[in-house]
Order: sequence, then structure tokens, then C-alpha cells
Amino acid sequence: LANDVFQRTAALTSDEPHTAIGRTPPRVSVAIPVYNEEALIQELMRRVLAVLDGLPGGPHQLVLVDDGSRDRTFACICAAAQHDRRILPVALSRNFGHQIALTAALDYADGDLVVMMDGDLQDRPEVIPDMLTLWRDGADVVYAVRTRRKETWLLKTCYQAFYRVIERLAHLKLPRDSGDFCLVSREVADVMRTTREQHRYLRGLRAWAGFRQEPLLVERDARSAGDSKYGFRQLFQLAFDGIFSFSTVPIRVATWLGLTTVALTLFLGLFWVVAWSLNYAPQGFTALATSIAFFGGVQLVFLGLIGEYVGRIYEEVKNRPLYVVRKSSETGASAWPDDT
Ligand code: UDP
Ligand code: MG
Repeated sequence: LANDVFQRTAALTSDEPHTAIGRTPPRVSVAIPVYNEEALIQELMRRVLAVLDGLPGGPHQLVLVDDGSRDRTFACICAAAQHDRRILPVALSRNFGHQIALTAALDYADGDLVVMMDGDLQDRPEVIPDMLTLWRDGADVVYAVRTRRKETWLLKTCYQAFYRVIERLAHLKLPRDSGDFCLVSREVADVMRTTREQHRYLRGLRAWAGFRQEPLLVERDARSAGDSKYGFRQLFQLAFDGIFSFSTVPIRVATWLGLTTVALTLFLGLFWVVAWSLNYAPQGFTALATSIAFFGGVQLVFLGLIGEYVGRIYEEVKNRPLYVVRKSSETGASAWPDDT
């Protein structure tokens, strides 16, 4: 499958704008993961479908992946799907987390273009036509860059620090302040889909895919209802996934620190030998104890770092599927409305 995709993508690579596809309006799929979003799911569907109504061509598609919600989110989606064939409901068998749920949505989205966005209306569906305009001008990926965030100062500072750190560490250029909100062509969507790593940092995979990537400045709204599903723990998890999946710099720091230490120790050793030969008595264990403790700590830190990578290797070699689907249009649509 992967080979097939890459051959197809290679064949499609050209510098001309998408005039050939531009003649027939592209089918747009909007892929959204939702988790306990009962409070705003109706509003979300209304706003996205209104935008899809305004696009030429169609029928477009709205893929809503329910990430194991415990409220009535999925029931609401199914009820709406009964009246609007553009909605494709998919339910995962449990909560798999945002990035995996978004991957599932990407897997089900079969349009010529795929828009990925959050389900809490922080990303405005109304900018999709602007993304389409940039795509028509030849972009394969149009990613939203946040101009103004409406989050607490603490979160803002953390986000800013993170994007700057990963920019320095990552092997490839990851655009600053851009989240998962984007429009990608079928080719890029296929590249992102066929990259089946477990610890997914989709915005990184998107950048990795290459092709012509264009930013689009958008304001990011505050969440319209409900609570954020990302606690600090999840945010740190995502940050670590970003850094460890796209950088081996942390592990290399160990090598450099080790080399520096060895050089310093050689130098100090020489100094001590000279001091000893001049009958300069050492003062006792303080320096010794301190340095043993210090380097013990350094070793533990880097053992932990190596563990991060080894753990990720372990996760990958298990080769489990990324998610399990409980229900989708292929598995009995008739039973949906009573679903909770
Ligand atoms: N989400 C999900 N699974 C999760 C957590 C979140 O599908 O385990 C969805 C959530 O419903 C929303 C999107 O991912 O549509 C972004 O989550 P949230 O707004 O809570 O994150 P934040 O914007 O606070 O970072
Ligand atoms: Mg949000």
C-alpha cells in the first residue's frame, strides 16, 4: 500500500497549479475527532455543514470520529447522519486520544481534499474557503497559523516555549504556532495515513510529507463550550511525542556531555597529580562525593532519555493497530439512533 501511494504521489508532483483538478470542483472531507463534546456537537455540525453548503461541487463529507465519549455525543452525530448523508459517524471502541482519533478521521475521509480540525470550534470552519483559494493557487498543504490565542497566559507561554524548542531540535522544519488545523490534498493525506507510527505528532508528519506548504493566518477562538480535554499531562505527552519523534538531539546531548566530562576529568586529573606531587594534600571527600553524585544524576537522566527512545521502539515493534472501531457506516447503520 505504502509503495503504491508513494508512486502515485511521485507521479502527481508538478509545479503547475491544480488547474486540471480545478475544473471539476474537488470533493472536500472535513475530519474531526470529538470526545465528550455533547455541549457543542450540534453547533459544530451546523457550522461545518453551512460552510460545506457554500462550496462548489460536492457532495462534500463530514467525518466525525467519536473517541469513546461517555456522553451522548455519538447519539447526536448518528441522529444527524440520518438526515444528512454527508455526515459519516465513526465510533472508536474506547478513548484513544486526540491524535489517534484524528488519524482515524483521516482514514475515513475520502475526499480529494481533507480538512483536519478540532471539534470544539476553536478552529473556525469559516476559513475553509480561504484554504481552498490557497490550494487553487497551487498549495498542497494549507496550514493555519495562530495569530492570536485565547488561552490563559500560562498555556500561551508553554506553547510558545515548546514551538521554539522543537524548532531548534527537530530534524526538519516544523512551522511555528501551527496546530492540526489544515487542508491537505489527497496525496498528502495518503502520505500522512500510510505513516503508521504509534506516537503520532500529526502536524510533524504533515511537515514531513513535504509538497508545497502554505501558511494561512487565522485567529484561534476560545473553546465555545465544554472543558478542554487536554490536561497538562496530555499536553506534555504531545510535546514529548513531537520532540522524540522528530529529533534525536536529546540523545546526542549525552554524547557531547560525556565527551566534555571526559576532557574535563583528564584536565582535572592532571591538575591533581601535579598538586599531589607538590605535597598539596587533598581536602577530603567533598569534591569526590559531589562529583560522584552529580555524574550519577547525569547518568540517570540520560538513561531515562535512552529509555524514552527504547520505549518508543518497543511500542512500534508491537505493531498494534492504532485504534479499534466500534461502529461506522460499514457496521450496521440501522441501529444507530438508539446508540448512546
Ligand atoms: N479530543 C479527542 N480525544 C481526546 C481528547 C480530545 O478526540 O482524548 C478532541 C476534542 O473533542 C476536540 C479536539 O480533540 O475536538 C481538541 O481537544 P481540546 O479542545 O480538548 O484540546 P485543546 O484545544 O484544549 O488543546
Ligand atoms: Mg480546544
